[in-house]
Amino acid sequence: MSIVIDEELCTGCASCMDSCMYDAIELENNKAKVLEDNCTLCRACIETCPEEAISLVREDVKVQKVDISQFKGVWVIAEHYQKKIQNVSLQLLSKGRLLADLLQVYLSFVILGSDFDDKLEQLSLYGMDEIIYIKSPILKDYYSDLYTKVISELVLENKPEIILIGATPTGRDFAPRVAKRLNAGLTADCTGLEINHATRDLLQTRPTYGGSIMATIRTPSSRPQMATVRAGIFNMPEKVKKKVYIRKIEYEFEEKDSVSKIVKVISKTKTSVNLEDAKIIVAGGRGVGSREGFRVIEELAKVLDAELGGSRITVELNWLDPDRQIGQTGKTVTPKLYIACGISGAIQHIVGMQNSEIIVAINKDPNASIFNWAHYGIVGDLHEIIPVLIEEIKKIKVNE
Ligand SMILES: Cc1cc2nc3c(=O)[nH]c(=O)nc-3n(C[C@H](O)[C@H](O)[C@H](O)COP(=O)(O)OP(=O)(O)OC[C@H]3O[C@@H](n4cnc5c(N)ncnc54)[C@H](O)[C@@H]3O)c2cc1C
Repeated sequence: MSIVIDEELCTGCASCMDSCMYDAIELENNKAKVLEDNCTLCRACIETCPEEAISLVREDVKVQKVDISQFKGVWVIAEHYQKKIQNVSLQLLSKGRLLADLLQVYLSFVILGSDFDDKLEQLSLYGMDEIIYIKSPILKDYYSDLYTKVISELVLENKPEIILIGATPTGRDFAPRVAKRLNAGLTADCTGLEINHATRDLLQTRPTYGGSIMATIRTPSSRPQMATVRAGIFNMPEKVKKKVYIRKIEYEFEEKDSVSKIVKVISKTKTSVNLEDAKIIVAGGRGVGSREGFRVIEELAKVLDAELGGSRITVELNWLDPDRQIGQTGKTVTPKLYIACGISGAIQHIVGMQNSEIIVAINKDPNASIFNWAHYGIVGDLHEIIPVLIEEIKKIKVNE
């Protein structure tokens, strides 16, 4: 899609320029002209033009032929906040390592920022072969246009075949911008990544049609192949001591090089629930029966020093706070122990907890699909089973 200006109708009144927040229109010979690099297709100019000289044109999708054999290497883009690399980026390194080994290529960790010089040694323990550190004071914060520009230029120069990005609010803003610039395929919110050995294609699996099926997507004719992945889908990598090549590139940017300006960064106030980092989670589903029924789940969570979670239905029924929902539209968790009580095991729930180290399911239906995912299963009424469990745990605690 692109914004097209009809020169015959354009009077050069510049109202479109005034309406454009992205400095994407200039006047040339008294006619408006679109600067494609800046244009976000927001359409504000179309609505403003008094002459109706501006329109949005959908071009036929052209499959750009690229020589995919020229693309080599797996990149993970680092996301950071207040000088700390986010866990999702480190988790992507563990999957990136597997993919790079299968493809027999380098795994590179790409950091755009400042003040990381003293952290590179520590970071190099996370299994990459190379750290590409793009340093500029302004890159300390996420500037969407500057980050997009730098990464797009780097990709054109280095030609990685795979780029992995966290499916965080920042990653969701940044990844499509880069993909558009590079005419590359992008799959959002992947829950699985594999390699087709014959074609070297990245097989990107994600829930689709409201989560009722899992789709595996590939982009066979374009490179790089880009995917975003939520936190908690992959495990943190083991730390290893190995030689890591560090490439530092200094960029000279100024604030005026960006169309946006970060005025102030306001940290989100933390809620008391931190399910993503919980070691033990006791989760309840519709089988708990009622809001009062949750008391027994809460009690089990308490004796185990665990966090409380639940399926979407329990949130919809107002039995549980929304920030405790686990699953596709809730949180993705990876505790050491996950106890699912009265949860049937719908795929939308499973994608949020399948990477738990040990899954225990309590369900009165022996055919419930949660048992396909559980390491230990107890068939029976949770209201009879959990009180017994609580008593036994209390006894063990007393004897410790
Ligand atoms: C787009 C979309 C996104 C979604 N996102 C999510 C999400 O993020 N998270 C999520 O959880 N769901 C999500 N869902 C909903 C999901 O499809 C299921 O409907 C939901 O997970 C089912 O919740 P449940 O297992 O608690 O309830 P049910 O499917 O009703 O299962 C209840 C289970 O409890 C058992 N049971 C009943 N009584 C007892 C008892 N006394 N003792 C023991 N067992 C008992 C039953 O045998 C049954 O297996 C989503 C759906 C869609 C369409």
